[in-house]
Amino acid sequence: MTATKQPKLPIALTDLDRRIFEEEIDPVLPRKIFDIHTHVYLNEHIGPESPERGSIVFDRLYPSAGWDDCDAADRLLLPGREVHRVAFGFPFQDVDFKAINEFTITQSRKDPQSGAFLLVKPAMSAEDVERQIVEDGFLGLKPYRLYTTTGDPKESRITNFLPEHQLEVADRYGLGIILQLSKSGGIADADNISDLERLSERYARVRFIMAHCARAFYPQPLDRVGKRLARLRNVYFDSAAVCEYGSYDRLLELVGPGRIMYGSDDLPACVDRGKYISWGEAWMHGNEDSLLCAELPHCDSRMTFIRYEVLRALARAIRRHALSSAETAAIFNDTAAGLVTEFRAAVRDAGHRAVSIPYQSFQLRE
Ligand SMILES: [Zn+2]
Repeated sequence: MTATKQPKLPIALTDLDRRIFEEEIDPVLPRKIFDIHTHVYLNEHIGPESPERGSIVFDRLYPSAGWDDCDAADRLLLPGREVHRVAFGFPFQDVDFKAINEFTITQSRKDPQSGAFLLVKPAMSAEDVERQIVEDGFLGLKPYRLYTTTGDPKESRITNFLPEHQLEVADRYGLGIILQLSKSGGIADADNISDLERLSERYARVRFIMAHCARAFYPQPLDRVGKRLARLRNVYFDSAAVCEYGSYDRLLELVGPGRIMYGSDDLPACVDRGKYISWGEAWMHGNEDSLLCAELPHCDSRMTFIRYEVLRALARAIRRHALSSAETAAIFNDTAAGLVTEFRAAVRDAGHRAVSIPYQSFQLRE
């Protein structure tokens, strides 16, 4: 038996965490998990202009998030589960794209069942993106609103940070895109829903995986455009960081369990103790620093991991909708595992076609 190096994460379970896991999560959580939304990075990938540079979280608490760190977090938080994942670089505002993407693909190769998505910015050409898919084996794209060409990451349209030349590449191979929306109205913003309708029809082979339940950290945006959203058959939703039962309840009504996938958003967002909370038309990442501003002697005011708040809300919705074990397995594993198998086959075929190009040109010359 070989000794494996155990990364030391700055987290440990309390009796509160154990009670929540045992009472609410464990009875619903299947043995096999496929996490569709995982971040990896090294502290050295953070560029000099990035606001994350010098932060306690990325300098001291989680200076690296490699495969072993993600495995360690899953072993602690999801005991007894077999976890595979899709990983992509953490989208720091200023980031060394080349280095973080190389790190991501190298780390993902530690598990043949897992995969990596390419962190992209609009300036990357179609040829550059295609080359990294075919040669390196990336299975999809991870664009991000911070890389928008408009200079306004808060109110950008989808194609401002995911240009159509990159969508064409993903469409040609039938790959996935993890898409986090911009704009305060989320998916209910008139531009966002009409852009998604147009793009998902035009690039019909792309699997659009809408991060954070299409950024529905509260259910009302889903209420407003749900029927239009439900009609888009190549649009999926991940659970990353969404702690509201109502968002899952509404999504299950709209699209059923076959298009919702578990995503952890770790590391490091959801190993934090706290909760993504919402009020009015607002939402935020709340934790002990931002939420606990007074003594609360009337209750146990300790916080659990955000990941557990996500899972207890999702588990409650699964119970409320009386999902079968097969439907539950779809959310936690089967849909994501099936998509990744399709993406991998498409990329492998593309590699074979690339090898055959000289032969085809020889035939043409004949
Ligand atoms: Zn994320």
